[in-house]
Amino acid sequence: APLIEFSAVRKAYPGSRGDALAGLDLSIGRGEFIAVLGPSGAGKSTLFKLIAAIERPSAGQVSVGGQDVGRLSRAAVPWFRRKLGLTFQDTKLLNDRSVLDNVILPLLCTGTYGDEARARGRAALDKVGLRQYEKALPATLSGGEQQRVALARAIVNRPAVLLADEPTANLDTVAAERIVQIFSDFHRLGTTVMVATHTPAILAGVATRTIRLTDGRLVSDLPYAPPSVAD
Ligand code: ADP
Ligand code: ADP
Repeated sequence: APLIEFSAVRKAYPGSRGDALAGLDLSIGRGEFIAVLGPSGAGKSTLFKLIAAIERPSAGQVSVGGQDVGRLSRAAVPWFRRKLGLTFQDTKLLNDRSVLDNVILPLLCTGTYGDEARARGRAALDKVGLRQYEKALPATLSGGEQQRVALARAIVNRPAVLLADEPTANLDTVAAERIVQIFSDFHRLGTTVMVATHTPAILAGVATRTIRLTDGRLVSDLPYAPPSVAD
């Protein structure tokens, strides 16, 4: 069975005209590494938010690991989210607390505290090469480092699926390559990865499949091939 499945999924946000997703069918298997492309407003973030149960479909069904995401009870959502790691373009790090305290936040949501949480947070920071900054405030780090902290927070629960929304936007090439290397490391460990990006060339050699959205519709779904011109 597919790991993630969209069946005729439509998403309309309350009060907005038109559909953010307009009848999406999509099936994703374990171990894929998917580049999600499309212009701003195409529905890429909405796709991720539906997978992560941040938003619910207006019609159709989203299933992850055999669970119907739209039918999760409020109480089940934090447990469901442990299967997923999500990062945002704006990182959503909290600047009133340390890097380590940011990374362990998802653990606190499901009842892992104290020394165990800190040990797991440090292990996650090790994976992104930022263990030495555990006491720093996020705002004192570079943009690339802040994305890596967000990645550490996303993987602290050892998720089966990693969803990254524009993780390399505004980063220089070196910082972007470092981020992509971390995705590649997790992919090799068996994690299913989806990365929304405007620069698919950075995923050469790691992505296995490219899906392209336009106006909430899937307009292409192909094996990954490096773009010949800038996307
Ligand atoms: P992308 O990530 O590809 O830029 P989004 O999924 O963010 O696309 O947005 C798809 C469409 O849904 C856009 O038209 C956007 O304006 C709209 N949209 C996204 N989030 C909301 C929201 N919270 N409320 C209303 N409209 C939204
Ligand atoms: P430990 O077993 O002490 O957690 P590891 O080196 O195996 O040490 O993992 C360190 C951290 O890296 C984990 O806490 C988790 O955050 C992340 N991690 C390890 N393996 C995976 C994986 N397959 N998928 C996602 N995250 C992982």
